[in-house]
Amino acid sequence: SQLNNDFQFIDVGRQDPQKKAARTRSKEFAEIYEPYKPQEAAGQAHRCLHCGNPYCEWKCPVHNYIPNWLKLVSEGNILEAAELSHRTNSLPEVCGRVCPQDRLCEGDCTLNDGFGAVTIGSVEKYITDTAFALGWRPDMSGVEWTDKRVAVIGAGPAGLGCADILVRNGVTPVVFDRYPEIGGLLTFGIPEFKLEKHVMERRRAVFEEMGVEFRLDTEIGKDVGIEALLEEYDAVFMGMGTYKYMQGGFPGEDLPGVHKALDYLVANVNHCLGFEKDPADYVSLEGQRVVVLGGGDTAMDCNRTAIRQSAVSVTCAYRRDEENMPGSKREVANAREEGVEFLFNRQPVAVIGDDKVEGVKLVRTRLGEPDENGRQRPEVVPGSEEILAADAVIIAFGFQPTDIEWLEPNRIMTDDRGRIQASEYGTFAFQTSNEKIFAGGDMVRGSDLVVTAVYEGRQAGEGILDYLGV
Ligand code: FAD
Ligand code: SF4
Repeated sequence: SQLNNDFQFIDVGRQDPQKKAARTRSKEFAEIYEPYKPQEAAGQAHRCLHCGNPYCEWKCPVHNYIPNWLKLVSEGNILEAAELSHRTNSLPEVCGRVCPQDRLCEGDCTLNDGFGAVTIGSVEKYITDTAFALGWRPDMSGVEWTDKRVAVIGAGPAGLGCADILVRNGVTPVVFDRYPEIGGLLTFGIPEFKLEKHVMERRRAVFEEMGVEFRLDTEIGKDVGIEALLEEYDAVFMGMGTYKYMQGGFPGEDLPGVHKALDYLVANVNHCLGFEKDPADYVSLEGQRVVVLGGGDTAMDCNRTAIRQSAVSVTCAYRRDEENMPGSKREVANAREEGVEFLFNRQPVAVIGDDKVEGVKLVRTRLGEPDENGRQRPEVVPGSEEILAADAVIIAFGFQPTDIEWLEPNRIMTDDRGRIQASEYGTFAFQTSNEKIFAGGDMVRGSDLVVTAVYEGRQAGEGILDYLGV
């Protein structure tokens, strides 16, 4: 039988969940992977070798007990697997869907040497989706409630990770967000073909049942002041992300037809979900020749959104080579299958056009000396200019920390790049220079990943419990 076979990884190859055909999926905003059937999940989970020192677990930013829950899945014990998986991760069904597994857990799987890594992310997603469908909920029966209340600013993965730790320890988190739904970039950023929105709606209901209170459509600094939170609550956690748009700094960036990546994606989400306040915000690229500038997750999501809007062509230009792209390799492959063309080693120098976009002027690059982060710097090849015709250009160069005017008056220090100073190794984990305020996620690390934001939120939650003496 399957359970008695220690060489499962040879007999059964790596099998990702079934993917819809590119032709079908490029017309719809829906997840592209089908769920695993129980037999498939068990068979894939059973491929795990149970290494003595599991590298996958070290590499996973939240240090999931991966081999342990893989074993439970191979035995068909889904509810226990869900309980175990929630011991380290507040959003396992989300991380299973959107983590760049190829450079995290699966990248370090021993079977990666020729046999194909265990499909860790897909099994992680399967566990929670299946457990919820079976009616499982996190076990809160042993919680001893305190009278402590903590304000959490931001319902993104960092804020939700923090709220999860607090509520499981009897502290009531009250989570404020300026948007009408929880999730942060999971809802208002990442498109439905990677993460369908009902996943976050279900998570909101689960958190509410656990005792988390949400105050949505409420912006701190506008609708409610930070001073009021500091007065009313025992501590404050900030998980507000990074939202300052990075410009290219070249001519033509203001021409009609040039779009900012996140504005474009959010307008599309709002349009699809019916959250649209002003129909004029929606940008349809139907029938247009689109050029996307950038090579990260955001650029990839713009490429694939434009394809689904029936753009006639979508070309993604990136200044380094394919090997050095920051985004997930899986999503680059998916984009290519759906019809996105890639131009590597190209840097934009201008958007061309009289009163609207007509093209992008690009120069070729080659990789030179490493920069301060060890990544090779692209150098321009002289005399290599070319013009790529376009009707629309999307700029996806990333984000910088948002300017928040109430930081300084509240003694919250930032570093020279505007990131909040808070570390795992202070007196209390992720405490800022104001002892009552903690912070984590993108606003501390700079734009990064869902799973690292979850980790920092959870660690900050532990820090707050220590600070409150709970
Ligand atoms: P956010 O998710 O940004 O959440 C911050 C929340 O704070 C928001 O809801 C915001 O409304 C709220 N907020 C801010 N200011 C206030 C205020 N004053 N009052 C009230 N609320 C406030 N990562 C991956 O791992 N995989 C991916 O595939 C991936 N794809 C991505 C695609 C796109 C388009 C983008 C932009 C990012 C992507 N990322 C991906 C990165 C990931 O989404 C972020 O790293 C992660 O969401 C950061 O979490 P956070 O909680 O720190 O911040
Ligand atoms: Fe892998 Fe991400 Fe899950 Fe960790 S959280 S096991 S890195 S998919």
